[in-house]
Amino acid sequence: MKYRLRSFPFWLVMLLGVSTRMSAEESAPMEQTWEVTFVASKDSSPKVIAGRILIEAQDGGILFEDRVGVIWNITPDQQISRTSGEGTYALLPADELAASLKNELGESTEIVRSEHYIIATAGNRSHAEWCVELFEELMTTFLAYWESSELSLELPESPLLVVIHRDRATFAEAARIEAGPEFAQANGYYSMKTNRVVLFDPTGNRKPSTNRRSPVRSRSDIQRFMAANPHVIATTIHEATHQLAYNSGMHTRYADNPLWLTEGMALYFEVPDKRVRTGWGKIGGVNRPRLDRFRKSLSGTQTFGRPIAKGTGENSLLPSLRDARLTSLVADDTRFSDPQAREVAYAEAWALTHFLLANHRHQYIRYIAKCSEGAHLRWKSREERLQDFKEVFNVTPDEMEVDLLRYVAKLGRR
Ligand SMILES: [Zn+2]
Repeated sequence: MKYRLRSFPFWLVMLLGVSTRMSAEESAPMEQTWEVTFVASKDSSPKVIAGRILIEAQDGGILFEDRVGVIWNITPDQQISRTSGEGTYALLPADELAASLKNELGESTEIVRSEHYIIATAGNRSHAEWCVELFEELMTTFLAYWESSELSLELPESPLLVVIHRDRATFAEAARIEAGPEFAQANGYYSMKTNRVVLFDPTGNRKPSTNRRSPVRSRSDIQRFMAANPHVIATTIHEATHQLAYNSGMHTRYADNPLWLTEGMALYFEVPDKRVRTGWGKIGGVNRPRLDRFRKSLSGTQTFGRPIAKGTGENSLLPSLRDARLTSLVADDTRFSDPQAREVAYAEAWALTHFLLANHRHQYIRYIAKCSEGAHLRWKSREERLQDFKEVFNVTPDEMEVDLLRYVAKLGRR
């Protein structure tokens, strides 16, 4: 089967470290195990990994998933040897995954486990325990929320892995190396390459002598901290939602998952809820920072990234809709990688998701199911993206804008 490939989005190239020249031509048998010896760069020593081939390119390059779930892009000139192994592919058993994570991150790392998660933390154990409780709650709620005959989501086969760095500085350094300088500024991220959520402990250093803040240790300390820092809850849920969506059958790693869909969903889920002990528990609340940003983008000098006449406020928006461009959000992901346009793109993704789930839930689920069928490294064209949207929602994104703006005008004011 031949695929027409377009360049990988910038952010994906960073996370995957993948070659934009790779051209996938043939699907390899998924469950056959292999042992591959390769050199990641000229100066590094050979590395041996066991796993399965996800995609084999015509030139011999492979997209390879190892037994801890990391996906490697190995070009033909990096490969030294490849031998077929015995048995079918499986991730390592949970105990071995935990041991492998500890081995990779160092002896000072503590492992906190629950039924579906393994957290390796260099921060306070109580913070990791708060995280794991939150993640378990998210998993249960997430799967129940999407229950539908048209979308079959499942519990992940293996525990999901989460890494928590000791503090912001150590996180920033690790993020810079793994994902690029842009991620060093983030409060956390989900890595498509390693399939892990990466966070840092914001509640205080474990070693008081190296940090002026008094260390936070007890459960009630953590809860007090989170109540005062809802953005930490939002980030934690946001990244865990991404990970869950990629591990429950909703999205496929390295397939074409429109960013308005994946980000919109994480933003939809991330809204904190003060009334719940962990600080989160309600899905679909109004994401106030995103709503405010969305409204600001409308009442300022532009709508959907396009200039509108000065002096047109929210009430006079409807007549100016011919300028609107929801199409740009749906058709490609470029605005998400543009620092100038990113914030508004996120706000629009949240607003569109909220609107669709309130008014067109059934079609939205069909759209998710359609996107979940995407193959590895098969990137859709703008036209295909728009065609998918129209096929499911029966209107073009631009035709949907009037209703979206009417909906958003009433949001949070009821
Ligand atoms: Zn995100």
